[in-house]
Amino acid sequence: MSDTHSLLRLNVGFIVHQGIGYYRDFDFNLPQVTIEPDLSLTALTGVVRVSRTPQGLLLEAKLQANTPAECVRCLEMFTLPLQTDFSELYAFDKRSVTDSGLILPENGYINLAPLLRDFMILEIPIRPLCQPDCKGLCPECGTNLNLSSCEHLLSNGSGHFDSLQSLP
Ligand SMILES: [Zn+2]
Ligand SMILES: [Zn+2]
Repeated sequence: MSDTHSLLRLNVGFIVHQGIGYYRDFDFNLPQVTIEPDLSLTALTGVVRVSRTPQGLLLEAKLQANTPAECVRCLEMFTLPLQTDFSELYAFDKRSVTDSGLILPENGYINLAPLLRDFMILEIPIRPLCQPDCKGLCPECGTNLNLSSCEHLLSNGSGHFDSLQSLP
């Protein structure tokens, strides 16, 4: 979406002409951002510092956001908080390029979207939980045990595993 791209585009061309050690902080406070193809963020906040170094522009990001996720135990959607901290050098030329292969675009704009997507996705756990002690679903009737209990739990008075063990 063009909106998102302009929100995450940093105009850094002017920093190239500053002395070594000069920096500018870009503050972020965006209620809603979608990064194509698949990452939806809300409440994106934090700061990106762009500094002039001899080899290029160093970008240091400290950002937080929320993303919708599905709990692997109870299958409810919930808001997963994410936090990322990364730094990347946008080199002035090929000789100074780092492992990430980033070169400062000639137009002086850095598009933060692809980097932000990569680093935020790294923060999403493989098995997200809505809360550390999510009780999950009753294997018999599918009741969400965080919200209510069901007869399968109560029948034996002492929880699922006991009642399963007491079956003939
Ligand atoms: Zn859950
Ligand atoms: Zn049940």
